[in-house]
Amino acid sequence: MELVRTEQKKFVDYLEFLDAEDVREFEELIRYLKGKKVAMVNATCYGGGVAEKLHSLVPLMNDLGVHVDWWVMSSCTNQFYNVTKSFHNCLQGLEKKLEQREIDIYLHYIHLNTSHMQDWQYDFIVIHDPQPAALIQYGENSNIKKWIWRCHIDTSTPNMEYWNFLYHYISRYDACIFTMPEYVKENHALKNVTFIPPSIDPLSFKNIPLTRERAQEIVTEFGIDINRPLISQISRFDPWKDPLGVLDVYRIVKKELPEVQVALVGSMASDDPESWDYLYRTLRKAGEDYDIKIVTNFNGITGLEVNAFQTVSDVILQKSLKEGFGLTVTEGLWKGRPVIGGNVGGIRLQIEDGVSGFLVSTVEECAERVLNLLRNPMLAREISEKGREKVRKEYLVTGNALNYFNLFLKLLQD
Ligand code: UDP
Repeated sequence: MELVRTEQKKFVDYLEFLDAEDVREFEELIRYLKGKKVAMVNATCYGGGVAEKLHSLVPLMNDLGVHVDWWVMSSCTNQFYNVTKSFHNCLQGLEKKLEQREIDIYLHYIHLNTSHMQDWQYDFIVIHDPQPAALIQYGENSNIKKWIWRCHIDTSTPNMEYWNFLYHYISRYDACIFTMPEYVKENHALKNVTFIPPSIDPLSFKNIPLTRERAQEIVTEFGIDINRPLISQISRFDPWKDPLGVLDVYRIVKKELPEVQVALVGSMASDDPESWDYLYRTLRKAGEDYDIKIVTNFNGITGLEVNAFQTVSDVILQKSLKEGFGLTVTEGLWKGRPVIGGNVGGIRLQIEDGVSGFLVSTVEECAERVLNLLRNPMLAREISEKGREKVRKEYLVTGNALNYFNLFLKLLQD
């Protein structure tokens, strides 16, 4: 295991996003939790949503007086990551047989990561996702008092062979956290099942307020005409994110509003051949239409550019056909832009249809909503204000810290 260093975060910097009652709740919880020792454990400190969240959550908790160490698994090779990628896909429903070879590889790397654990002394340990889940079998006689497993993936319809394998370990934990009730199978005997949605950091590069001028300057570099309406979708090139559907929506809208432009902004992993295939498919469908901009991290898209696209878009789409939570929806709402999302998964949790955004099930419905929003700036402003307020109340890193602290306190009292 390796200890991860994080940048400092100051709780006072977040006060502007909190209500007085949240601050009181923090003060109350800290009275019980100050000085408690917590370990967070996951597979990687860079890349992926979990690492991004821990880079904000861990220093924030430390600043509040709870001592949090963040450990990542070490000595893991591609052999391990190939197996755990297959765990990830199968726990989200992929049909495939669990092979003994995979179990052996998984447990081998788990064992390699237990060497320091005998010396660990923690009041709580939070193990994130399946990769380190089996560590608990070495920890039951350790100086770690409470074990918590945090599931970040959609386990609503898992491949049962993989779920049963994982269940053997997670059923030993003192508490299990899922994003939503739908993600945990009924008839389980898991202890202290708790639901905590993911969160965003309002002070990260991706979410910090950008002036409109600065954001416009950034998107202009990618060929966007800031004097014409822009719809955008920020997401991986993946069939479940439906970038092809977004192009169909754009084409319907274009017939009525010829000046409209669309941006598809996505990050590409060099080792993910499926997403390259899907990007090429999307490019073929876009053809010679120069009002369709397709840009990726290979063109220079980082968190700041994502922020700029979200900040200047007239309508943000997340036309997913399946979605765990959809942080891009949270980020879009936080920018105070109107968001239209597929009526699926975690998007339904975030958007109340017609109130804080729109939920759609078809291309036609989506196009109609886009046109409606582009033609009614008042409506767009009204729903986006409600969307931003919902994120402030429910999906910021401060709320995430409160959720964890409440669970810690509950376990202390158990
Ligand atoms: N993202 C990014 N660059 C891109 C596209 C996406 O940084 O070009 C980020 C996006 O801002 C969000 C995350 O990747 O924070 C995607 O999370 P989400 O929950 O929406 O979908 P996932 O990819 O996890 O299915």
